Amino acid sequence: MDKENTTVHAERLATLDEAGHRIYVHPEEVKGKWRDRRTLVFYALVSIYFVLPWIHFSGKQIILLDLAEREFTFFGTTFFSHDGPLVFFIFLSFVLAFGFITVKWGRIWCGWACPQTVFIDLVYRRIEKMIEGSARARKKLSAQPLNLNKFIKKSFKWFLFLLVSVHLSHTFLGYFVGTRKLFLVTIGNPTDHWTLFVIMWSVTLLFLFDFGWFREQFCIVACPYGKIQSVVMDEASLVVAYDVSRGEPRRKTVPSDQEGECISCDHCVKVCPTGIDIRKGTQLECISCTQCIDACDEIMTKMERPLGLIRYDSLSNMEGKKVSSFAAKPMFYAVALLVTFLAFGYALNKRNSISLQFIRGSKSAYQEIKRADGSREIVNHYKVSVYYNGDMDHNLTISTLENFKPEELRIVSQKMPFPVSPGKRQTVDIFIRFHKSILDHGRKTIKLQIKSDEQILEEEEVKLVGPF
Ligand code: SF4
Ligand code: SF4
Repeated sequence: MDKENTTVHAERLATLDEAGHRIYVHPEEVKGKWRDRRTLVFYALVSIYFVLPWIHFSGKQIILLDLAEREFTFFGTTFFSHDGPLVFFIFLSFVLAFGFITVKWGRIWCGWACPQTVFIDLVYRRIEKMIEGSARARKKLSAQPLNLNKFIKKSFKWFLFLLVSVHLSHTFLGYFVGTRKLFLVTIGNPTDHWTLFVIMWSVTLLFLFDFGWFREQFCIVACPYGKIQSVVMDEASLVVAYDVSRGEPRRKTVPSDQEGECISCDHCVKVCPTGIDIRKGTQLECISCTQCIDACDEIMTKMERPLGLIRYDSLSNMEGKKVSSFAAKPMFYAVALLVTFLAFGYALNKRNSISLQFIRGSKSAYQEIKRADGSREIVNHYKVSVYYNGDMDHNLTISTLENFKPEELRIVSQKMPFPVSPGKRQTVDIFIRFHKSILDHGRKTIKLQIKSDEQILEEEEVKLVGPF
């Protein structure tokens, strides 16, 4: 924080002064096991973010959210606008998964996986540190009136922020436009793609503003997930918490023989990226980043006291209450998630099937025609209505499962194989031409197979009719 004073006011945001102006947070560096683990997770997530849109699977970008075409591809499966129920299941799964994670592990998403935290911590704050120095040096620089040194450092920092933001926004757009297409667009003339050009700069400026300057304010005042979490979480949820029974009364507040283990060093406050004092209890601003755990553990190590005065724990556990491992809230989310997955799997399975309807194509049930050799054959005309709800184009053929000789039975159509596209109903006329000897009392049921390449997609029975 800009002010050396780390006292956090009880009735206003830690990042606001008396006049309501923002106090810019410069959290100090911290070392420790949680810091190391988070850094590893951050590297993995940033790598995934950059690499994922370049991976192709089954000829498609592995994740492509093509809003213009209303086609959404996930790991080789494309959903279309008519797949509303499936997209609803995906969305609901995310909501329930977040609910389950939150009720079990609190704001673990915020501290460990939210792009806001990951990019600020791993990229923007590192650039800031590289150019402006430690948290103490940064505070000093910010407090200085504008001079040449400050101007050069700040300008260079914002220039690097801009470069990073441009790169991030291109990758971000790659998920919506397709990286290969975006690459070609990027090396082309911007005036040929005005809309994309404007969107790219808008996203860049948004990243620049948010990751470069707005930072923790987004988590505190703008993020809806942060607000919802306080409703979802309960006393059994895992949070970053200060052990009041061990820490209080703090040093300097009571005679030394009554002191708890907190030595009032304020190290936990100085490292906090949202500027709060965790000793005041769990707060909405806490993003569970674990910085204060490492900071306090460092102090406890020096003081030769047990670690964990600030730790990951549930409030009930801290207060010595028993927590059932089958608590209602997590069970509710787990069961709802399971049901949603099952429903999604069922809907996905149904979606890939092909539906066919064989409708008689002529008013008369059959026609008799003369062959070139003078023999007669029967013709049954069917209109085949095909609806395919999958995600690939197919060329379908219809043939019989039984081994008829050509002079016994043939299936004739103007379009065979005939193309079907996902999400469209198509109709094709087929004529089943056969010799009347295959009939039994003027009737015969035959089995047809509908194939795409050599793969059988469906089998259908049709009834042939002819003279008795
Ligand atoms: S209180 Fe601790 S865990 Fe919460 S945001 Fe601050 S440093 Fe991170
Ligand atoms: S870092 Fe630990 S010892 Fe120091 S003020 Fe915070 S809780 Fe107390």
